[in-house]
Amino acid sequence: MSTEFEPAYRALHRSGELKRRVALAYARLEACDLCARECGVNRRLSPEGAGCHTGERAIVSSYGPHFGEESPLVGRGGSGTIFFAWCNLRCQYCQNYEISQGGEGYEVEPEELAHMMLSLQNQGCHNLNFVSPSHVVPQILAGLLIATGAGLRLPLVYNTGGYDSLKTLALLDGVVDIYMPDVKYADAEVARRYSRVPRYPAVNQAAVKEMHRQVGDLTMDERGVAQRGLLVRHLVLPGGLAGTAEIIRFLRDEISPDTYTNVMAQYRPCYRAGNLPPLDRPITNQEYAEAVSLAQEAGLRLDERRTRLMWLWR
Ligand code: SF4
Repeated sequence: MSTEFEPAYRALHRSGELKRRVALAYARLEACDLCARECGVNRRLSPEGAGCHTGERAIVSSYGPHFGEESPLVGRGGSGTIFFAWCNLRCQYCQNYEISQGGEGYEVEPEELAHMMLSLQNQGCHNLNFVSPSHVVPQILAGLLIATGAGLRLPLVYNTGGYDSLKTLALLDGVVDIYMPDVKYADAEVARRYSRVPRYPAVNQAAVKEMHRQVGDLTMDERGVAQRGLLVRHLVLPGGLAGTAEIIRFLRDEISPDTYTNVMAQYRPCYRAGNLPPLDRPITNQEYAEAVSLAQEAGLRLDERRTRLMWLWR
C-alpha cells in the first residue's frame, strides 16, 4: 500500500459515522433483512429460522494470509482473509460446503474479530478479505470500529456470493474499499435449482451496480496491489449453466468495459453435484476457451495471471 492511501472507513471513524453504522446494522438483526433472503427473524435471540444459521455472533472458520487470490489482492504479503462460516446461498456444488453449509467454525465476539484484523495487518497482508460476509455485516462493522481505533489501515475486501441487499450495501458505502462479488448465473430458474435462492440475477445485478457506483473500476498502486474498486468473479459451469455470454454482456454494457474480471476455470463436481448432471463433470477446455474469448472480445480487464495459470493447471 502506498503511504498516501487511506482506506475509506478511517474518515467515517473520525466523524463518528462508523459507530452509527454499527448501531444501524445491529438493529437490522432483530427482524433480519440483512441479505436478499429477508428471513425476518430475530437473530439477537436465536439463529432459529435464519437462512444463514447465524445468531448475534459471527462464526469464523479460519483466518490468515492467503496467496491463492487474484494477483492484485495477493501482492507479496498476501490477502488477509477471514472466512466466515455459513452462507446465504446453498450452492449444490460448493467446494467448501463443510464451512458454508455445515457451519464449521467458532463463535467470536467483535473484540476477537478486531484482534484478527490487527493480527493480519501485523503479518504484512495488503488487505482484509472478508469471505462470505453478507450475513455478518453488523459483526464485521463492530470489529472494524474497535480495530480502526487501534490503528487498522488496510483496505477492506467484501468477498461475496453476490446475493446482497441494497439496504445493507448502503451501510457499507464509504466503508468497503474493494468489492469482489461473484456473478454466478444469468437465469433465475438455474439459480433457484443449483443455489436454492429466488431472483438471483435481479438481486445480483442490482447489487453489482451499487457496488460499482460506490467504488468504481479497480485501481491499483504502483506495485499492482489493489486499493479500491470492483473485482468480479465468474465461475464457468458445465453445459453453459452459468449463462456466461449474458453475464459478460451485462458487465460490459451495464457496469463498465473496464470491469476487472476473473473468469474462473476451477469448477469440479463437489458436494451434491455428482447427482446433478451436467454439474457432475469438470468443464472442458473448449468451454473455458469460449468463456475467455467472449470476455476478451467484450474488452473486459481479465485477471491475466490467473487465466494463464488456469491453462497450465488444466
Ligand atoms: S442474513 Fe440473510 S439468510 Fe441470514 S437471517 Fe438475515 S436475511 Fe436470512
